[in-house]
Amino acid sequence: MNKNYSALTLDELPKRLSSITAITDQIGTDFSEWKVTEVGDGNLNLVFIVIGSNGKIVIKQALPYVRVVGDSWPLTLDRAFFEYNALVRQEQRDPGIAPSVFYFDREQGLIAMECLDNHKILRGKLIAGEKVSNLGDVIGKHCARLAFKGSDFYMQTKDKKNDVSLFQNNLELMAITETLVFTDPYYEAEMNNHTEGLDPIIKILREDVEMKSKVQYMLLKFTSNTETMCHGDLHSGSIMCTENDTKVIDPEFAFYGPMGFDLGMNIANYLMAFLSQPAHRNNPNEMKSFQRWILKVIEETVNAFFEEFTNLWHNSRRGILFPKCLYEDQGQSTDYALNLVLKHIFNDAISVCGIEMHRRCLSLAHNADFEQIEDVILRSKLEARNLLLGRELILCSNNIKDISELTSLASKFNERNIL
Ligand code: ADP
Ligand code: MG
Repeated sequence: MNKNYSALTLDELPKRLSSITAITDQIGTDFSEWKVTEVGDGNLNLVFIVIGSNGKIVIKQALPYVRVVGDSWPLTLDRAFFEYNALVRQEQRDPGIAPSVFYFDREQGLIAMECLDNHKILRGKLIAGEKVSNLGDVIGKHCARLAFKGSDFYMQTKDKKNDVSLFQNNLELMAITETLVFTDPYYEAEMNNHTEGLDPIIKILREDVEMKSKVQYMLLKFTSNTETMCHGDLHSGSIMCTENDTKVIDPEFAFYGPMGFDLGMNIANYLMAFLSQPAHRNNPNEMKSFQRWILKVIEETVNAFFEEFTNLWHNSRRGILFPKCLYEDQGQSTDYALNLVLKHIFNDAISVCGIEMHRRCLSLAHNADFEQIEDVILRSKLEARNLLLGRELILCSNNIKDISELTSLASKFNERNIL
């Protein structure tokens, strides 16, 4: 660790940041009046909101270890460097969706960024039954723009390769995904935990060699297919919304990987919100109606992704892949090629989706949608549906032809009495 690094505290923060003009320009110079609170509900870092006479700012600082586990699990401060680099690229590739960055200090692992004032973490809103009007459209487009504009469809190959090489060094965070997401759920790994009662279902998953091998095959793609810069952790805890505005935070897991990765992780978290609804809504009509809305968001997200990707394909394809000299310049259609690429992205997304559904019930970091259900019997029943739906998605990822087939499958599993 860097010898000058020191974690911020509530008391020291104002003095320590008072001479940074990029920060005082946003919130004012009168640092003795700053109000500081720590809001980091995340698993890894410190997050402070600082309110000054002229405005608010968020200060996010990496700790030299994993926050939820403690200093027994060291983790590089440089995750802030990758988060900063990803935030900058998100802004270039799809302006206005990630918080603006005002200041970055690599030695301190510190980023000063726009405070999303009225926005709440989407996961909490989904648990509370609160809708967001533009959700599917914003996230679908964001995933498509990141996928396309970080790839060899769009970037100059030299820039792309340099960028891949920069992000390949985010290896400690990639290692977390490689282990906790792709591997630990499928054997009795040390940090795992699961709800009582699920053992028979877990046995089915762990004995399924075909499924496990498909997961490892997806891991092969995760480590080798540097198709584009992915956010890397686009679950509903990395999305902040008001009723009608949607933003994306926390890209510290950014890496160059499969174009379908973010889309798949995003859909998985909506499916878990969907399947956990029976535990969160008392009124059955409200429950059904909110569940229908979540499925609609999934469909809108995927449709927005395809539409935007198609639009970029036709209007902004200028990299080395599928060049115009081979198609348009020959008077030939690109329909076949585009469909091939979209199918590849969709299949990877479905596969990642199933895997994410598994790791959230079996590995270290569970999601609140299920974890907040106090009735253990009900929780295990709902998680069992989730685990078996995840299995189905991994096994059939190449055969699900469109998003409505996936949402129909989800509705079917939502009715199943498994435990
Ligand atoms: P971690 O990487 O440790 O998971 P996050 O980036 O997810 O940290 O941030 C933790 C929490 O801090 C978020 O859940 C959110 O409540 C709050 N937060 C993070 N960034 C912002 C922001 N730009 N504006 C407002 N709140 C934020
Ligand atoms: Mg994080």
